[in-house]
Amino acid sequence: MPEPVITPLRTPRRAPRVLTIDLEDWFHVCGDGFYSDPRRWDAFAPRVEESFAFLLELLRRGGHRATVFVLGWIARRHPGLVRRAAEDGHEIGVHGDLHVRADEMSASQFHDDLRRSRESVEAASGTRSTAHRAAEWSIRSPRAAALEALAREGFACDASMMPVPPLGESGNPSGPFRLSAEGWSLLELPPLSGRAFGVRLPLGGAWPFRMLSEARLARAEEEARSRGVPAVFTIHPWELDGAAHPPMDGLPAELRAVHFAGLRRFPERFRRWLAREKTMSLRDAIGGLEPAEAA
Ligand SMILES: [Zn+2]
Repeated sequence: MPEPVITPLRTPRRAPRVLTIDLEDWFHVCGDGFYSDPRRWDAFAPRVEESFAFLLELLRRGGHRATVFVLGWIARRHPGLVRRAAEDGHEIGVHGDLHVRADEMSASQFHDDLRRSRESVEAASGTRSTAHRAAEWSIRSPRAAALEALAREGFACDASMMPVPPLGESGNPSGPFRLSAEGWSLLELPPLSGRAFGVRLPLGGAWPFRMLSEARLARAEEEARSRGVPAVFTIHPWELDGAAHPPMDGLPAELRAVHFAGLRRFPERFRRWLAREKTMSLRDAIGGLEPAEAA
C-alpha cells in the first residue's frame, strides 16, 4: 500500500492558540492494570461533573473556545456535561470509548471502539463530531492504519500524534499537516512542542504544561505561532481538582510522577495562561490553514 502524502500546513499570519480538553475522569489512566480496567470504573467516586463544570465556567467568563474530546464511557454516564459544552459553543470531538490505546487494538477493535464512542458522544451532544484524539497520543506515525480508518468513517481531523519520542516517532511533523492517499484525506494537528532541558519535548499538555516555567512556555508558544503553527494545548478536567484530587494509592511510581507533577499549583497557572489571550477550537483553527508553500 502506498504511503500517504504529507502536506505541511500553516496560517499565513500569526497562528492562534488552541485549547483541547480530554473529557475523562481521574481514574482514566493507561498503563496500569488496576485503574485502566473499565469493570472498576463505576466503583470510583466521579469528580468530572464538578471539575468540568468549573472548567466550562472559566472558559465562559473569558470568552474562550475549545475542542472537547469526549470518552464514550463519559458521554453515557454524564450526557448533560457534553450537552452543556456543545451549548457553550465548544467543538465536541471523540476520545475513543474505553480509553484503550489505538496501537494496542486490532483494526476491527479500533473500528468498533470508534463507532461506539461516536454514537454515545453524538447522542449526548446533539451535534456531529468530526475530530478525534486517541488515548495517550497512541497514533504514533503518519503510516498508522488508524488514520485511514478515521478518514473513511468521516472524521476530518485527528490530534493524536506526538511530534517527539517516545510517544511519537522522531520524524513526525511538529506543525499541522494534511495526509492524503487514494480515496481519503485527513488533517493532523500535533500538540505544541519545543526545546527544554536540551531536548525537544511536548509542551502543550500534561506535565510540561504544569511544570515548565511559564516564561519558557510562553516563548515556545510565541515561536510556534509566529511561524504560522497553531499552539495546541491539552488539559484534563482532573488537572483542576487541586487538593480534592483522589490520592490514587497503588499507582506505580512512574505513572504517579507524571500524573501528580505540579497538580496542586496548576489551577492558578491555568487561569494566568487563559488570561493572556483567548483560545479557539481546532475546528476554528483549521479554517485558517493553507499549504505551507503558499503561506
Ligand atoms: Zn485520555
